Amino acid sequence: MEKLITTFPNKEEFGKTVSLLSEIGIKYDIISPGAAYSKVGISSAVVDAEDMRLISERKSIDFICSGWVDYRPSAIKVPDTAPASFKEEVLTESAIMVLAPCVADYKKLRLIVHTSSNIEASFPYLNSEIPTGSYTRDTETFTFMDGYRMISLYGHRITVAKTDDIVDTWRVLEKIRCLVNDIWSRRAQIQPSYELKKKPPALEIYKRLPGTNCGTCGQKTCMAFAVFLWNGESHPSQCKPIFGGEHSNLKEPLMAICAGLGIAESEEI
Ligand code: SF4
Repeated sequence: MEKLITTFPNKEEFGKTVSLLSEIGIKYDIISPGAAYSKVGISSAVVDAEDMRLISERKSIDFICSGWVDYRPSAIKVPDTAPASFKEEVLTESAIMVLAPCVADYKKLRLIVHTSSNIEASFPYLNSEIPTGSYTRDTETFTFMDGYRMISLYGHRITVAKTDDIVDTWRVLEKIRCLVNDIWSRRAQIQPSYELKKKPPALEIYKRLPGTNCGTCGQKTCMAFAVFLWNGESHPSQCKPIFGGEHSNLKEPLMAICAGLGIAESEEI
């Protein structure tokens, strides 16, 4: 039977929801972030889709969740470790406020996350340390790619696209927390950068593709694939003529320009 999963903005709403589900006799499973992801995740509830329909019809039921999405068991496990701590932490905790299917790929998730502290002060240091990141001072945003995932940081907010499932989502959020806090802890040794770094244009990516429009990557033309790469919706390795085919000579120049988008060869889709 089809199942749905949600997570919650805080522990109180999680507790309230599972009490309500028990009260009205709806079965649920709990996926826990454990200690490892406790700074970025709240326990999540999984229910049958049909039961969810019944819940939504009961007007008396009142709880706040981050959004119901299709449940897929995770291929990864929550580690059995405590979260890393840092000399100084600018990003203390975060909570998922919106959980929804990705617009470009409904099998993946997108999220909006609220941070408990303002992280804007870290952006010039992140800009120095993450060569593929892009800092926009006017709007106080810092954007970078984690493989094929686009991550945007704002003062009190983080948006992430294309996580695989809830455990993968927590893993990505914990990785961001550690990255930001590690750089923040070392900021005395880092020259802050306020420079605006621009992404390489899609045309420059296109120039490093075979130009045969063979369609193996799933796109009708190499230009369309270049635009998907530019948007972070594809990975270079999907061009099989370059990765293992007759155009392997283009692999190095393609990966060099894709580094400007924050795409690494090791992080294939
Ligand atoms: S697989 Fe490569 S060569 Fe074929 S259409 Fe896609 S980008 Fe072009």
